[in-house]
Amino acid sequence: MTIKYIDELTIAEKRLFIRVDFNVSFDELGNISDDTRIRAALPTIRYALGQKAKVILASHLGRPKGKPNPKYSMKPVGERLAQLLEDVDVLLPEDCVGDAVKKLAGELLPGQVMLLENLRFHPEEEANDEGFSRQLAALAEVYVDDAFGAAHRAHASTSGMVQFVPVKGAGFLMRAEIQSLSKLLEKPARPFVAILGGAKVSDKLGVIENLMNICDCLLIGGGMSYTFLSAKGVQIGKSLVEEDKIHTARRILERAEARNISIMLPLDHVVAAACDASAKALTTDGVSIPDGMMGLDIGPKTVAEYSTQVLKAKTIFWNGPMGVFELAPFANGTNKIAIAVAESNSSSVVGGGDSIAAINKAGVASRIGHISTGGGASLEFIEGKKLPGIVALEQ
Ligand code: AMP
Repeated sequence: MTIKYIDELTIAEKRLFIRVDFNVSFDELGNISDDTRIRAALPTIRYALGQKAKVILASHLGRPKGKPNPKYSMKPVGERLAQLLEDVDVLLPEDCVGDAVKKLAGELLPGQVMLLENLRFHPEEEANDEGFSRQLAALAEVYVDDAFGAAHRAHASTSGMVQFVPVKGAGFLMRAEIQSLSKLLEKPARPFVAILGGAKVSDKLGVIENLMNICDCLLIGGGMSYTFLSAKGVQIGKSLVEEDKIHTARRILERAEARNISIMLPLDHVVAAACDASAKALTTDGVSIPDGMMGLDIGPKTVAEYSTQVLKAKTIFWNGPMGVFELAPFANGTNKIAIAVAESNSSSVVGGGDSIAAINKAGVASRIGHISTGGGASLEFIEGKKLPGIVALEQ
């Protein structure tokens, strides 16, 4: 796989289309509540401006379902970007294609920035429509993809348009993501400990299958652990379970044992009668969960055991919370794992919005090797899948 990066391309005075991932979150008042994704693209944007490229940025935002909707306009994103870039004005056209945009693109001066309106205001973006891809491509002379978070989608802006632009490459964020995640797949330092959590086993089956080929120890927590525990015949009360995946979970455990890979499951739990912050939280002594109770976090023995494994690791991949960490009584497990990952002397990669939120809440982000901006994309990468947004960049 050969990919050229932006610093290997001639971009001076060129119309440079950068696909960014500015899919930021907003609070109830409509203010941007987390601009991490905008900040993550700044090195590429600043480099392009320094090189005197004519910068055209494009992103999706939310799920406007193929129609213009002011709620999902890129305008507040453009304003935040302008603040972050300090002395640079950001032009904000009312669409991402069409004559007006084409004219503005043609008039852009070196060192200027234009942020196109939400790509998903057109259904053709997600449909990877050829005509729409050609319209986007016509805006630019060079294409650079820095939107790792969207690289698992074969959309017009991440895949379709790339073949119609004469020069293509990836940005610095994309480079950091590809390099960090590739290191996990190719010769990771051992022991390699993977930690998976979150609600559903079904979302993570492919990742588990591939991790069994590459990691030494897999720590499972969160809602998904109860399907595995159920597969082992453990009483799980009324915890979250995917009945139709119990058989698959059993097969995975058997295969791991045959291959000498340690899949660890919770040894104890924090339980309550309801998934509610005001419900009385209890800690079980052992692995069984009484009738009428549900497991909502890993218990202290599990935290201790998982932390021991994490502290021994030389490579760590973590995706998914260990419990319902949004509710204070069930946040301890996820928080303690975040701290252990930060304290470990390992090359660590953390992906997924919830795990990143936990890392930030614990105040340990600066001690994590690589925080992946793409939850779904990083899981597919680890699953061993070819991501369309990366394939499109191959020379
Ligand atoms: P995912 O999107 O699959 O990574 O799942 C994240 C969600 O899983 C979070 O919203 C958690 O609240 C939820 N979760 C984690 N542990 C549990 C659990 N034991 N029971 C129910 N939901 C859980």
